[in-house]
Amino acid sequence: MDAVAPTELVLDWGPRFRLTLFDLGLACCAVEFVAAALSEQAFQKLGAHVGPLQEANVLVVSGTLTDVTARSVIAAYQQMAEPKWVVSFGACANCGGPYWDSYSVTKGVDQLLPVDVYVPGCPPRPEALLQALVLLQQGEPLQRDLQAPPVRPAS
Ligand code: SF4
Repeated sequence: MDAVAPTELVLDWGPRFRLTLFDLGLACCAVEFVAAALSEQAFQKLGAHVGPLQEANVLVVSGTLTDVTARSVIAAYQQMAEPKWVVSFGACANCGGPYWDSYSVTKGVDQLLPVDVYVPGCPPRPEALLQALVLLQQGEPLQRDLQAPPVRPAS
């Protein structure tokens, strides 16, 4: 793996500890995101809050992703400024979940975007989102940034 430039480390440090989350709620996992977001104290301890897409640096994809909605998900990601991270929240976002064999379901948001943290569960517990934010702040995304494939262009 290539070394990370010191300037990249410094520039990434600030946003990493001031996380602005935007939830792309596609199905029932979005309820768990809301439950997590309601625990304001826990969010504040992590320097996290929920904000509009244009200000967000963490895109949380929660719910069942279909091939029809894929283009919108890519468009949302492309509206975010760098540095930015993606949390795949729940089994559906990770791999299609219970609907993995449906003709219309995308088998994971990582087929479209570079995912930094996968949160398992159907549904995942709200606390698992907080754990995902801690992982982001521990620096895993730097490794992802170096290895991630480019975003698939919307067709
Ligand atoms: S992982 Fe389970 S709870 Fe989450 S969106 Fe899919 S079916 Fe619903």
